[in-house]
Formats: sequence, structure tokens, C-alpha cells
Amino acid sequence: MDGKENSILLALRQIISAVSLKSSFEEAIASLVEKIRSTMHTDCCSLYLLNARKTVLSLAATDGLSKESIGKASLQLGEGLVGLVGQKEELINLADAPSHPNFKYLPDVGEDEFLSFLGVPVINQGELLGVLVVQCKENRQFDEQEETFLITLSAQIASIISVNRSTKEATIENVKRYKGKNGSGSIAIAQAVVWKPPVNFDTIQIMYSQDKDIQSELFHQTVFQLQTEMDMANLRLQEHAHQKASSGYMSGYGSMLDDISFEDDVDNAIFSQGYVAASAIKVVADKRIKDCMDNGQEDKAHDIRDFASILITRLVHLLPKETDISSPVVLIVKSMPAALVAEMPRNKIAGFVCVDNATSSHTAILARDLGIPAVIDVNLDINNVDGHTVIVDGQNAEVLVDPSSSVIDEYMQLISQSRQLHDLFEQDKFEKGITKDGQRINIQLNAGLNHEDDDLAAQTDGIGLYRTEISFMLNSSLPTEDQQTNWYSSLLSQFTNLPVCMRTLDVGGDKGLPYLPIEEQNPALGWRGIRVCVDQPNILKTQLRAMLRAHMKYGNLEIMLPMISRLEEVLIVKRILNESIHELEDQYQTKITRPKLGVMIEIPCVVYVLDELASECDFFSIGSNDLIQYLFAVDRSNPKVSKFFDPFNPAAVRCFKYIAQKTHDLNKPLAICGELAGSPLGALLLLSLGYKNLSMNYSQIARVKYITRHVNLQDLMAIGEKALTLNSSVKIKSLYVEYATAHGLMGVIDPKNFR
Ligand code: PEP
Ligand code: MG
Repeated sequence: MDGKENSILLALRQIISAVSLKSSFEEAIASLVEKIRSTMHTDCCSLYLLNARKTVLSLAATDGLSKESIGKASLQLGEGLVGLVGQKEELINLADAPSHPNFKYLPDVGEDEFLSFLGVPVINQGELLGVLVVQCKENRQFDEQEETFLITLSAQIASIISVNRSTKEATIENVKRYKGKNGSGSIAIAQAVVWKPPVNFDTIQIMYSQDKDIQSELFHQTVFQLQTEMDMANLRLQEHAHQKASSGYMSGYGSMLDDISFEDDVDNAIFSQGYVAASAIKVVADKRIKDCMDNGQEDKAHDIRDFASILITRLVHLLPKETDISSPVVLIVKSMPAALVAEMPRNKIAGFVCVDNATSSHTAILARDLGIPAVIDVNLDINNVDGHTVIVDGQNAEVLVDPSSSVIDEYMQLISQSRQLHDLFEQDKFEKGITKDGQRINIQLNAGLNHEDDDLAAQTDGIGLYRTEISFMLNSSLPTEDQQTNWYSSLLSQFTNLPVCMRTLDVGGDKGLPYLPIEEQNPALGWRGIRVCVDQPNILKTQLRAMLRAHMKYGNLEIMLPMISRLEEVLIVKRILNESIHELEDQYQTKITRPKLGVMIEIPCVVYVLDELASECDFFSIGSNDLIQYLFAVDRSNPKVSKFFDPFNPAAVRCFKYIAQKTHDLNKPLAICGELAGSPLGALLLLSLGYKNLSMNYSQIARVKYITRHVNLQDLMAIGEKALTLNSSVKIKSLYVEYATAHGLMGVIDPKNFR
């Protein structure tokens, strides 16, 4: 390169225009590396592209290395120099590459003779796509102008690569990949079995019969049979430690089964209109569905439809039988009533894919709770997958159809890695979260659906967040005080001697109750959390009384208030809490120990009134999901903007530090219970900022405990100080990646996802 600026620009322009003239992507990148190599007078130029799972960089084009290695040579993110450029998303410029500790020799690619190395990340809109590398045989230090040239070029080619990436992936990996909106559980690989309801609710023909008594008898028999089967399914679920989920959802259907007016209406349709039983059910259900839709009760409409579909299916004796499935399969359905999900033969279903949007319905909740790898709301043509090999990746909400053997190998490795990690974590399961330098970190559970695991209390330091709304969501109407008292007592009794922090009802936003519909233009900024409870004090009071009644017996309750934005809200709740305590003391003639009261920090404005709030509460707990959502004005469930949901952004890091420092000065305990606390790298960040109470979902407890037990808090705190001085998320995140790498924790930090 001649070093003159305009000649650099000219060279850049020539390369880009030559590349864009090529008709295929392969030709374009082959020409790109050739041109870069000759323009920069190097001995080699190569382009590595990141696979769709963002785990592996594969050689996609080269001028200088063996062409045979294209599509074969690959490095994990973080592996070798190329992997390091990708992982850190930073340029590496070395005159003597083989002497770098991360240098990795790849046999058969022909890079033996190369000494110098200049690698830059290829990034499009914040997303890493690959790594561009030039190498020389001589010991040459690339100068600043050469660095700038390669960086500028990589930025320009990023968009071309981005456009072609999906096609390229499909060719390299030979796989059809479908993204779902909601995933849960781990990974399953098996043959697909597509289940289609034998009778379609929408298309069932309306038919008439003279045998009205027989039709009515058939209908009542079916209802009775379904009731018996549901009771049995309920029992089965209880045996499998999913009591809370099952009882909640069963009561949804149960109430319909017990709904005499439904049976009367169907009988009426049979006797007065002469319909056959199935048609009568359809007619009655259609009317009820319409009424629900008119009242905005979409979930209830779904339930009625599911319920009617089951009855109709039973009537024509066509329900799928367990015995139809011989070995574990991936069950693919367009939509499936929750009752059938609950009845799924657990040992024969390796994975579950539901095409329709059932995100908020019982189906999704139940699949998640049963622990089957599942992907929901995925745009997949179910007519073309029966019998095909399918991978269900619940972690990434992806379904892969007809994966090549190399893709299957990659996923098998992930399955085996997660099994190995599971075994590793099991060893420390009952230990406490104590860092290597002896600092005690509390690791608590976020609960919603109870895990009836006898050991659970012994594995945790109590419950840091109990999302009471989940039980409300699974109920068919507002639960009574007695019903709630039973729920809360059962939880407190499971954790005796440990704190159980129950959050008052947090509905609205993305969490709807079928019997309390909230229709809003902008629900995230609307009537949600404590706002609903303050406006509906009866709901709040019933809940507080139920919590207190459970507390009277077990004494380990803490109460926490979600979505607080004003001091007044805390004062109102305190008044209702005091009233409830006095009433119950009178009623039961006993003294009640006041449970500790906490305020959630989820809306950024409260950060500025911590002094005032501190004098009215006993502790604070950060809901990082909402705090980040509102701090960055980024919808927490919109994948299009997920890159802005960034806890490593300097603003977020400084905000977390400020809250930790301020609550420390105020002498108020602080916990954090959003997803960040359970994300391995997030936990490192929080520890480094002084957080000592982390609350997370059950699936994260063992991993975070392991990490806690393998770090030195003092070292981490020094990293936290450094993080506060940095100006970009990438730089901050690298600090923690480096620390994890240096302490052999990188394999434990989610191997594919550094969030
Ligand atoms: C949070 O916002 O971080 C939180 C814990 O509450 P939820 O996710 O239930 O809104
Ligand atoms: Mg929240």
C-alpha cells in the first residue's frame, strides 16, 4: 500500500465495486480476499464467518491458505487468534503471531510459514459476522494506516455479508432453521411426529339427528369420561412434582366441566334444535367464544375452544394414544389444548414444537413447567416435517429440520457439554455461595410455579422473588383469601427458617389475567404492577391478608412491591398492610410479627428518591428486567431491539453501582432478582459492583453458585472499578470475559452466549 490517503480510498472503492459485481456470494468473497491480499502486499488474506449459533468461525474464503480447507477449518469463538478477535470484537496486530499465548496451530491449512497477523472483526449493526485476517511470512508490524484500511473495508463488506449470510449458512450447514418466539428447556434431537387434531373445531359439519336422547347421553358420558381422565392426569402431574401448575390449569378446564349452564345449553341445543352432540357443542362454544372476544377475554376464549375441541374429539373416539408413539419423538403440533399437553407421555416426548402463538396460554406455561425442550410460535409448515429429523433448541427458540450430520454433531456436543456441566454443578449443590476469599454471597430462588423438590430449601438461601401473579394466571377467577392462604402456606412451610419474599400481584404489561383484561395502547407504560393494586385495594388487601395468615403460622414471610414509582404508593400499601395486621390480630387474638417490606427498583425515577423510600421500607430489590427496559426505552420482549437491552452498557453499569453505593450508605439491604442475576456473566458483573444477594430461576442456581465459589471477590471488585471508567459495552464485557477465561470459567459461563 502506498500510504497516500486518496489512494487508500481509491483502493477501497475498487475492491468494493469489484466485489459487488460478482454474481455469487462465494465468488464475491473469493475476489475480496484476493484483492485485499494484492493491495496490501501480504502473503495471505482470509475471511472467517461466524455460524448462526454464534459459536464457531469457519474459513469461508482465502487467498494464501489451502483452498481445500474452505468450509472445513474452523475455530470456536475465543479459540486461537481468529477466535480471540471474534470474541473480543477487537483488532489484533502481531509481528510474531506464533509466540502469542492464544496462537493455535491448525493442521492442513498451510499457515506454517506465516509470522505476522492482522485480524479485524466484521461487524454489522453491532452483530459479529466474522473475522478478516491478513498474514505475512516476514516478521512485519502492520502500521496504523493498514489497520485503518482493513477496519474500513471490514465495515463496508459487513452489509454484503449480512445480506448473504442466511443463504450461505443454509449451503454450509445444509439445514432449515426456523426461529420461534418463545423457547424453553434445553436441546432435543429426534424424529418429528406431527399431530393434527382428527376433528377440526372450525370445519366440523353441523349435523342433525332424531335420536335426541342418545345424543344427550353420549354428550354426558363424554363429559364424565373427560372429568375422570382429568382427575387422573392431575394425579399423574402431582406425582411428577408439578402440582401447582397442574392444579392451576386443571381448575381452568375443571370449572368448565363443572359449569352446569354449559351442559344445559348443549342439552338445549340437542333437544330444541336437533343437533348431534358434537355439533351442539360447537354451536354453544362458538357463541361463548364470541362473547369472550367481545369482552376482550382472549385467553378464556382459547380455553373454551380447547375444551370444546377435546369434547368433540372424544365424541368421535379419535384421541391420540400413548401407544401410538414407540420411541422418543419431537412432537409437532399446530396448536394443542393444554389438557393434551398435560397428558403427553413425558418419557416418549423428547421435544415439543407448537406452531401457533400460545405464548401466554396454558399450553406454553405447561410445556415449560414439564421441562421438555420446547419452541412455541414458530413459522414452520407442519405438512412437510413428519418423520424428518428435527433439533429443538429451547435455549435459542430455534427448530432445525433435516440437519446435516455435522450440525447434529455440534448439537450433540452441546448436549454432552451441558450434561458434563450439570454433573460438575451437582457436586456443590448443597454448599453455600462463598467466594474464594471467604465472602458470603446469598443465592436465592425466583419462584412462580413451585418446584416440589424436597431439597430445594437446602440448595438455596430462600426465595428472593415469588411471582404471585403466576398462580393468579393459572386460576380461572380471582383466587379467594383461603385459596391464597393455602398457596402461600405451602411455600412458607417448604422454606421454614429461610426468608420467602413474596411480591404483591404484578399484572399488566406483558402479564395478563384472563378475568381482569387490561386493554391499553402502551401496556408497558400503563396500568401495571402496584398501580393496579392501589386502584383495586380489595384485591391487594385479600392478598396481604392471605400472606399474613400464612406468615402467622411460619413466620418467614417478606413482602415486596413491584413497579413502585412514587413514595405515596408505598404509604398506601403500608396503610392497608397495617389495617390487615390489626384486623387479623383481633380476629385470631394473637400478635403478628411484622414481615419485612421491600421496594423493587424497576422504574428509573425511584433511583432519585431512595432516601425517602428507605425511611419507609426494610430492603430494596432490583428488578433488572424492567429497570433496563425503562432505562434504555427498550421493550424487554421485542427481539428486534434486544441488542439495546444491554446490562453491560456503561449507563447500566454506573446505575447499578450507584444503587449499590447509595443503599449501602443508607444501610438498607439490597438484592437483585431480574434475569441478570442468574446470567453467569451478569453475576460476575454484579459481584464486581458489590452485590451480595442474587436471586434467580432454579435452572441458574447451580451454575451461579459454582461461579461464586470459584472467584475472588476482591479481584472482581477491582475489575468493577475499572468497568466504571470505560466507555463501551464491548470493553466492559471483555473485562469479565478475560477474568473468566483466566480463571478457567469460560466453559461454565454459557458456552454459546456471553450475556
Ligand atoms: C424484573 O423486572 O426484573 C422482575 C424481576 O420482575 P418481572 O420480570 O416479573 O417483571
Ligand atoms: Mg418487573
